[in-house]
Amino acid sequence: MKLSVGILGATGEVGQKFVLCLQNHPWFEITKLYASPKSAGKTYGEALGFGTDSCRWFLKEKPKPEILELKVQSLENIEKDVDFFFSALPSEVALEVEGKVAAEKPVVSTASAYRYFEDSFTYLPGVNESHAAMIEIQRKKRGWKGFVVPQPNCTTVGLALSLKPVYDAFGLEGVIMVSMQAVSGAGYEAVSRWAEQRKQQGASLPEPLPEYTPLTFEGNVIPYIKGEEEKVKRETVKLLGRFENERIIPADFKITCKCNRVPVLEGHTESVFIITRQETTVEDLKRCWREYKGEPQRLGLPTAPPRPIMVLEEIDRPQPRFDVLRERGMVVCVGGIERNVFERGFQYTLLSHNTELGAARGAVLAAEYLFKTGYLT
Ligand code: NAP
Repeated sequence: MKLSVGILGATGEVGQKFVLCLQNHPWFEITKLYASPKSAGKTYGEALGFGTDSCRWFLKEKPKPEILELKVQSLENIEKDVDFFFSALPSEVALEVEGKVAAEKPVVSTASAYRYFEDSFTYLPGVNESHAAMIEIQRKKRGWKGFVVPQPNCTTVGLALSLKPVYDAFGLEGVIMVSMQAVSGAGYEAVSRWAEQRKQQGASLPEPLPEYTPLTFEGNVIPYIKGEEEKVKRETVKLLGRFENERIIPADFKITCKCNRVPVLEGHTESVFIITRQETTVEDLKRCWREYKGEPQRLGLPTAPPRPIMVLEEIDRPQPRFDVLRERGMVVCVGGIERNVFERGFQYTLLSHNTELGAARGAVLAAEYLFKTGYLT
């Protein structure tokens, strides 16, 4: 018997990925789909405009016919007759909706709404299973039968996963990160806008534009993403923190970052600069990344890659066009690892998939862990 699942925000960038990750899942089965009033009342196929010029399904693999036939429902009437929910709602909507649903049923969410409460278990598989007891604290405190387990921000995911084995083995004094983030990280409207800009640009090379227009992705770099830097800083030290006396004590290193949007479809690339506490070498760093295995690997979860971190030897890798889909987008690729001028200072490049590991497939892996450890039954 598979567990029945509802998807909140099923028509969006992340919602579509949820559909693909779940439609052949060995343990979970999609039975309910929810989206905005714009989509509610239509079949999933109609809501996404399948068979029309304005189809907004943007993945190669298609949903199964029985999923296309499912009715999309409105959030006004969420039926709680499923075992649990995945949520890919915008955060503003998620706070109220996920809270209401969690009163009855578990919710695994990619939205940020519940990441920052004292009683939140923001879960990055392979990094902070030691915080899972927070689920019972949240239930007790809020009087919920269910819970909300949010996923970390997609830019934090690659960074925190790459830092975890280094922090455990050598300690960390400081971390500086500069991101180059994909347009898909901003949702389907941003991707459509970029596609439109590419059409207008045609075959000619981009030139400077006379007038400022926000959200110009084509031929451009946007050196600010609202709220992103705060999320990365706050979440990274919390994910690597320790659970003590019913609280999470953040990890004790300094961290700062700068986040940029670049014209890449999928995959967040990050330049990372670290200072370790103990002396180490490039070879030792590579070894500890290569050998690292987390709980998903130990438990043999269906969506877990053999190892969560892949080390690439080439100085100019990883690159999104070539590396983002390694292990179905479920590994963090680390490359260009070098010592730098600072004492115990190292630098590297990482790449992680923002809508696979960083959102839908990462959330499915989280749910597999919660199922295997008895939180979903
Ligand atoms: P998106 O493409 O904009 O999709 C949003 C989804 O929510 C759609 O299904 C949309 O339905 C629905 N929705 C929007 N407004 C609603 C409303 N007022 N009431 C009910 N439903 C509403 O966004 P996304 O990129 O998939 O992101 C979803 C969540 O995941 C966000 O919280 C985001 O921060 C987070 N996240 C995104 C990424 C990423 O890389 N994209 C990564 C990690 C986390 P309609 O189609 O009917 O409008």
